[in-house]
Parts: sequence; structure tokens; C-alpha cells
Amino acid sequence: MGLLKAFRGGTAAATGSGGSDNRASVINARDSARRLELLDDLEQAGIGWIWATDSDGNLIYLSENATENMDLPDGGLLARPMASLFEIDTENPDGRADRSLKFLFAARSRIVDQVVRFVPGAKLDGARPVWWSITGLPKTDSAGQFIGYRGSARDITIAHERKVEDSRMAEFDSLTGLANRHRMNRRIDATLPAFKAAKRSCALLMLDLDRFKHVNDTMGHPAGDALLRQVAARLNGAVGARGEIGRLGGDEFQILLPDMDDRGTLGEMATRIVKLLSQPYPIEGKQAVIGASVGIAIAPYDGVEREELVHAADLALYAAKNGGRGQYRFYTADLKDEADELVQLSEDLRAALDADDLYLHYQPVVRAEDNVVVGCEALVRWNHAERGPVSPVTFIPIAEESTLINDLGAWVLRRACRDAAQWEDSVRVAVNVSAVQFASTGFVDTVANIIAETGIAPARVELELTESVFLGDNEAADEVFVALKALGVRLALDDFGTGFSSLSYLRSAPFDKIKVDRSFVDACTGQDQNSVKIISAIIGLADALGMETTVEGVEAFDQLDVVRGKGARYIQGYLYARPMPIEDLLDMLESGAMKVVPKGPQQFRADRRSVFRRVGVIHEDHRYTAIMRNLSKTGAGLEGLLGIAKGTPLVIDMGGGQLAVCTVARTQDAEFAVEFETPLVNDGAGGLCTRHRVSPYALAAAGVPLTALGHGDYPLAVGAHVDSKPAFIEVATVQAA
Ligand code: C2E
Ligand code: CA
Ligand code: CA
Repeated sequence: MGLLKAFRGGTAAATGSGGSDNRASVINARDSARRLELLDDLEQAGIGWIWATDSDGNLIYLSENATENMDLPDGGLLARPMASLFEIDTENPDGRADRSLKFLFAARSRIVDQVVRFVPGAKLDGARPVWWSITGLPKTDSAGQFIGYRGSARDITIAHERKVEDSRMAEFDSLTGLANRHRMNRRIDATLPAFKAAKRSCALLMLDLDRFKHVNDTMGHPAGDALLRQVAARLNGAVGARGEIGRLGGDEFQILLPDMDDRGTLGEMATRIVKLLSQPYPIEGKQAVIGASVGIAIAPYDGVEREELVHAADLALYAAKNGGRGQYRFYTADLKDEADELVQLSEDLRAALDADDLYLHYQPVVRAEDNVVVGCEALVRWNHAERGPVSPVTFIPIAEESTLINDLGAWVLRRACRDAAQWEDSVRVAVNVSAVQFASTGFVDTVANIIAETGIAPARVELELTESVFLGDNEAADEVFVALKALGVRLALDDFGTGFSSLSYLRSAPFDKIKVDRSFVDACTGQDQNSVKIISAIIGLADALGMETTVEGVEAFDQLDVVRGKGARYIQGYLYARPMPIEDLLDMLESGAMKVVPKGPQQFRADRRSVFRRVGVIHEDHRYTAIMRNLSKTGAGLEGLLGIAKGTPLVIDMGGGQLAVCTVARTQDAEFAVEFETPLVNDGAGGLCTRHRVSPYALAAAGVPLTALGHGDYPLAVGAHVDSKPAFIEVATVQAA
């Protein structure tokens, strides 16, 4: 239409100038034949095509050459409904594609520059989709009756594909194909308000690769890129269609999981992701190994707005990384304080080391066949002036963040070698060596110096390494192995079975001993027969490779029987002895003629952790305060309430919106034990938490403003009037020692 008009304008000007013979005569508007010819030329030139439908929307005309390059079904396109031949692309909406083409035709709407995909072509296998821009106007006859559409069309395939690609690039990470930060932000921004309105929940996982930088530095950037692509593929496999995965940059990933607030499921998923990402990556004929940490925040519990939720997930990730890596953590209101505390703890640790405030405990390793002590493992201890004892599980990772670990490690080794001079030569001393320490320059020299300085026989010293020494640069690791063997010290592979456990390393690295991780022993008397099989496989493998095995964490006789039955020759665990000060160790060795008699429970019981925590106890309309003394997945022991009867239904408020519905199982004076209706789940930090929390939506419905859950207690039904009398009496309890 526009072209014709322009042409008309031109002819008017030509007419005005008087004309000449070698010019074509003007085309009169009523000269149908020449107008038709013009239209023909236009169609031939491919500048645009013309189409028309009948009143039912069936195509009755289409410029002949419009379909020249298309693979057409038999019978061509004519007489078929226009709306069945083209479709509006809903995956890449260009802002106005909220209606289907069928709808537009049925409504006899004007169609202006609508981008459509040619359907028969799109459905042909492997055929490249063809994109048109169509314009069409409904036409009525002189009586005002609709008689069909008249329209134009042109092929915009190339331009359209470029546009789609551009917007894809703006939304997706070109390296991994995952959503980029921009898209993730948009997704979260779109999801949260919609979910808020519908009272739905959604989880946000923040993921960070451990030691990725190391791979990048030692193997080069192309290797780093290849690794990131494999990480993306593994994440896609783990998450599937359940959520959207993004790469925010570097080695940072984010996963948005709609309709997810079950911390049990989330914890399992995070564990699976960490495991999956910790498997070796084949890259350029080599193997690279990294780890991953995950922080989890859940809307609306931990954040209602994007900034709040992302910040919560970030803090949880930070805590996971500080908790020793390879872990997941849920956000809780006190993580904020924890982050500050870690900085403080790091300073305190340095001071403690300088002031010689750290000390060692020793735990015997016993020969199963005759209960003779063959070695002792040195375990570092720290009694913090204000906090009391801090576990090495907490402070070793802090030390690993800086060179502090080297000083601390050297201190432990020196002290252990000196102490070992006080006991029989037949008893070795085992010292834990952090992977960070192992990889630091000067490590071998430090070991050599300490051995020379203390005069200990190198064969009495056993260095315990974990599988993480294989992370990163394997050639450098091999050199350290060789140098250590040359010194004559023994090497043990600690916590075997918890890392990626690549057997190829076992074959090449010169270990004298493998220590089977405690987790297999914990599980070996339960339902999980896998653990038994793993223990026996590890022992068999070690035998075949000429290595010794120590099974760690044996606490009960039933466990001892199982591991002995599987051929374990050396045992370390509470059943024989707990870690103890050197004086106690020396006493024990002397009085027992180098033997320890196992002593402990017949049966292993899943650990009921000792806790000391003030909790709320809700019964009917009343809220009481009690002290929680111990906690397991299935129940808890409390004290501080008199008058509770067995069988009473209660709700324990453990703070942060965690309410556990339970029944009183036993009572004695002010002490009582409860059993949870739904078992607790791991919180990723060695503790337990409830699967679900009080929904801020439910609180909002009761009149509380909609916000993330704080530290605080769950209020009793807001506004409910209390007319009953309290049923129990609160009594003061003794503070924990
Ligand atoms: P690990 O090397 O696996 O040490 C064994 C841990 O298991 C010790 O915990 C020990 O007390 C505990 N354990 C031993 N037998 C049993 C048992 O029968 N049941 C249970 N439940 N636990 C048992 P601890 O002393 O808290 O040390 C924890 C971790 O901290 C150690 O695990 C080790 O990885 C690290 N660590 C301790 N001392 C040092 C050190 O001097 N240097 C380094 N780099 N790491 C250390
Ligand atoms: Ca160890
Ligand atoms: Ca261990």
C-alpha cells in the first residue's frame, strides 16, 4: 500500500512537469490493467507479498513466489485457514503477542506488523523456521458485510533470528548457556510478588565452587571454561525442570526453585549437588577436582523481597564455606552475627596460638586382635576464654583461610613429636595435616626440621591427609609425597570414602594406611547395608594394595563385631577411648600394659546430641519456657516444667519459626522427654532443624505484618483471648556446667 501511494505521489509530480515521450505515461487510478501489472512487478521483486482470506479466514490468495523457498505440503496453502498456517511465537514474545493468531482473525482485528512463524515449515523436521511479518485489514463489502482479510507480508527470518539471538545473549551466559545474573534477577523479581499474592513459597540456592581458582591458575583458563561447562551440565542434571539455574559470574551459581520450602528435601538436594560437583572432571586428558558449597534461603521465611532473599542466601553460603566447605547451610536469623563472629574468632585464634593457649588430646588406635595400642592421634583443642571449648571442626577451616594454618599445623606437629618421646617407641603418633598446609611451600622442610629438632624416629610419625590434597595440582602433590617418603614418615589417608575417593590416586600415592570414615561405621548397624559393603570393600582394597586400615568412630560392641567381621585390624573410637590429655594417656598405657579394654554400649544408638537451649513449650493457650537438654531427629529431652503427664500433646518452639509438634513420652520431676510427630532434618552444619517453619503468610493472616522470620518466638495465635489457667508450673533449672 505504502509503495503504491509513494508511486502515486511521484506520478503527480511528473504530471506537473509536463511529461515527455520517452517517459512512460502516468498510470491512471482507474487503469486496472496497468495497476495490476504494477502489483505484479511488486510481487515479483519480492519486496512484499499480498494475501487475502475469505470471510471464514481461509487463504484465498497469496503471491505466488512467497512460498518458493518453502517445503510445502501437498496441495499448497490455499483454501486452508490462515490461522492454521502461521502462529505467534509465545516463547519469544515481542511484547504484544498475548493473543493467538486465531483469536485475532476470529475477532476480525487489524493485524499490523505481526511476527509469525510459518507452521508447516516449523513442524518439518530439521527445517529452519520461516518468520514473516504480516499486516492485514478486515474488508467489508458495500453492504458492510465482512468478506475477508486483505493483507501484505514479508519474510523477516534473518532479522528475527538475529534479534532472538541478541536477546538470548543478553539473558544467558554464553559460556554455559545458563541464565545470567540479569535474567535471574528478573526471574526472582517476577516470581516473588506473584508468589506472595498466591501464598506460595520458593527457595533460592547460592552455589560457589571451592578451589575453582586453583584449577584456573594451574590448568589455564580454557580448562577453567571447560570445567564450568561441565558444572553447568551437572547442575542441569540435578535440578532438571524443577527450577531455573543461573551463573552469576565467575564460579558463582544460583538456583531458583519454585514451590519449595521443605528443608528435608532441600538438604538432600544440596547434598546431592555437592556430591555431584565434587566428582572429578575429565579435562584435556587430565582430571580436575573441585568442591562446592551451597547456601539456601526460602521465601517468605527468610526474605520477602529479592534483595532480602538474595542476601540471606549469600550469608548462608558464606557460613557454609566457613563451616568447612563441601557443605550446605540454611539461612537462619543468627547467621549475620555468625559472620561477624568468625572474623573475631580468627583474631582470637591467632592470639591463642601466640600465647600457647592451644593444647593436644590424644586418642589411641588399637589393634583389634589383642587390644594393644599401636598409635595415638593428636587432636588439637582450644579453650576459648569466653566461649569455652571451640571444636577443631570450627576453627581449622578458619585457620585455613590464612597462613595461620601453617603455624598451627607446625605447632601441633612439634608438640606431638615432643610428647611422643614420653611413651613407648612401639606406639606411633599420628598428626592431622590440612590440605592447605600440605600445598604450602616449605611444608616438607617444616616436617624435616621438626623431626630433626625433636629427635623422633621418622617411622613413628604418621601424617594424616585427606583426599582434598589431590585437589588442584597433582604433580606438585606427587613431589611432596616423594619428599615425605624420603624423610621416612608414614602417610595415612584420612576420612576415606567421604570425598571423591578416586581409586587411581590410591594406587599412585604412597599411603601406608587408610582410615575408614566414621560415617560408614555410624550406619553399619542400621538398615543401610551399603555401609557394611563399603567398609568391607575398602578393607579388601587396602589389603590388595598392601596398606593397613583403621576403622574410625567405633562406639558400641555391635559396631565392633561388624567391622571386625569385615577384617578391620585397627580400630579407633570411643569404645576403646576418647581423646584425652597426655597425662591420662600415659596413665592408661602404664596401668593397662599397653592394652585398652573396650567399654561401652552393646548397641549403637543414633546420637542424641547434648544441647542447652531455652525453648518455648506451647500447650493449649499457654506458652512456657523450658530448657532443651538433648535433641535427636526423633525426639528431645527437656526440663523445667512440673505437672506434665505422659501422652500430653505439645508444640516445642525452637525459635526462628520452628515449631515441632510432639507428644510427651516420659516424665520425671521437672524433666520430660518428647517424641516429634515429624522427624527433624540435618541443617547442614551438624545440627538439626524442622523440615517446615511457621509460614509468614499464616502469621500475616493472623494480623502480623508480612516479613521474614526473625530470631524470635512464634507468637501464640495473635489476638486470641486466653481464658484457661496454665496447666504446668515453670521451675528454675540448673545452668549447664
Ligand atoms: P579426624 O581427623 O577424623 O579426627 C577424628 C575425630 O573423630 C575427632 O574429633 C575425634 O574426637 C572423633 N572421634 C574419635 N572416635 C570417635 C567415636 O567413636 N565417635 C565419635 N562420634 N567421634 C569420634 P575432633 O577432635 O573433634 O576433630 C575433628 C576434626 O578436626 C578431625 O577429624 C580433624 O579433621 C580436625 N583436626 C583435629 N585436630 C587437628 C589438627 O591438629 N590439625 C588439623 N589440620 N586438623 C585437625
Ligand atoms: Ca585424623
Ligand atoms: Ca578421620
